[in-house]
Amino acid sequence: MFEEMRDLYQEVILEHGKHPRNCRHLERCTQEAMGKNPACGDALVVYLKIDPEGIVQDCSFLGQGCAISMASASMMTEIVRGKSQEAAARVFRAFHALATGDGEPDLTGLNEDDVERLQVLAGVREYPVRVKCATLAWHTMSAAMQGDEATSTE
Ligand code: ZN
Repeated sequence: MFEEMRDLYQEVILEHGKHPRNCRHLERCTQEAMGKNPACGDALVVYLKIDPEGIVQDCSFLGQGCAISMASASMMTEIVRGKSQEAAARVFRAFHALATGDGEPDLTGLNEDDVERLQVLAGVREYPVRVKCATLAWHTMSAAMQGDEATSTE
């Protein structure tokens, strides 16, 4: 990774870790799921409010874990809000491919701002033991959308 990208990664993780966005219980959510990453001890609940048209009206999370898991959850809620379920699923697949280096990320249809944020967050691939921390909130969001109540990185 370029040095400036690494600096940006650390800056963003620290900032979101210190001031997580949408870190609250969501009243009248339509879906929720719990996610656990036993390898690190991260645990969180993701709440979604999806309208009849399938648009994510609101997304929040509550939980405890390392700075990366919290920062990733914070960024996930920001990225997913206002998107259709289908678009959110597409972003998740792209982020998963970026962060794990598994497969070619499909970035078609994603806006520039999201791609930039995903790329910064995907800087985690430089730290393989942390990849599960960074993808936990996304797996949990995906589980909630599919109606699963719980998911684990194991
Ligand atoms: Zn962690």
